[in-house]
Amino acid sequence: MTDKVYGKEKWIQGLEGLKNDYKIYVPVKDGDFHAFMPMSEGKAPDFDYDNTRMSPKAVMYPESERLFEYSLDDADPEANILKESPKDFSPRAIVGIRPCDAHGFQIVNRNFDNPEYRDPWWVRRFGSTTLVGLGCNRPCSTCFCTAVGGGPFHEEWLDALMVDLGDRYLVKGLTDKGEGFLAKMTGGTPADEGAYKEAEALAEEASQKIVSSPPTDRLKDQKTTDLFNAPFWEEVAFGCLNCGTCTYLCPTCWCFDIQDEVFGKQGDRIRNWDSCMFPLFTLHGSGHNPRDQKFQRVRQRFMHKLKYYVDKYENGVQCSGCGRCVRYCPVNIDIRDICERMNNFESA
Ligand code: SF4
Ligand code: SF4
Repeated sequence: MTDKVYGKEKWIQGLEGLKNDYKIYVPVKDGDFHAFMPMSEGKAPDFDYDNTRMSPKAVMYPESERLFEYSLDDADPEANILKESPKDFSPRAIVGIRPCDAHGFQIVNRNFDNPEYRDPWWVRRFGSTTLVGLGCNRPCSTCFCTAVGGGPFHEEWLDALMVDLGDRYLVKGLTDKGEGFLAKMTGGTPADEGAYKEAEALAEEASQKIVSSPPTDRLKDQKTTDLFNAPFWEEVAFGCLNCGTCTYLCPTCWCFDIQDEVFGKQGDRIRNWDSCMFPLFTLHGSGHNPRDQKFQRVRQRFMHKLKYYVDKYENGVQCSGCGRCVRYCPVNIDIRDICERMNNFESA
């Protein structure tokens, strides 16, 4: 075990020393919010943050990614042949990621790496990324990670965990990847009993601050058609603007669209994040749209997260309880409320 205690400045100096080994992403203050950005000159990490507005999902699954490229120039002997575009799979580390966002990566991983389908780019990035978590000393009122299998200091999906002890961090290695990362860090001293006790007390205190606990125990046993036809969807969807904020911020949403963009005789095939909340998402080439009404799109989002996913993977809901969609939905649509309605629904 390489559990160590680092003074806060020493920790940052240690990270700077790893820049040749990893591309390191850290939380950085960005206007009124925090965002994960590559650690670089002029962008000081700020680990004293609640959570980032956008989840760090884009580090492994870019918002927009060129998959293939091709030439349409008949003079080019390789014209009309799709060639894979260069991509960066070098080792990277997300340092300061919250346990709920690490849980989010595990959930997305089930979609991109399973017996039926393996997304080669996701798989390689997931494999080359080290997740160094940061326990949440002060969870937000909208957090509910403890209701969906996680917790503010949950270690299961992380490679290492930092605990903010005020003037220093206790950093625990949790996997071989995490141990490897910490073995390269300079400046720490072996963790002592006092540091572990402080960390335990902080974890207990933080868990008690999470008061939201939407029930999920009956979701699996609910009949899909009963929930699909439940009478509350029009009411739930009434205020929705279909802005897509909830899905773009979410660490567990993975929908995408693939488009070809052609400039002159050069073409690119690009994968872009998309959102089930947009009417165009399901528009068929024929002009038919199976989800042309707003309530159908809102229903799809919640049915996917809280029923279809639950039934398909038998591993909980497609939500890590980060609370972002609750905090940033402009009309206060709250997944905790909808989860409760779905879970407790009694068919007539
Ligand atoms: S953030 Fe709110 S208003 Fe916007 S699409 Fe999501 S549920 Fe609708
Ligand atoms: S709370 Fe909302 S944003 Fe966070 S994981 Fe769940 S659905 Fe996504």
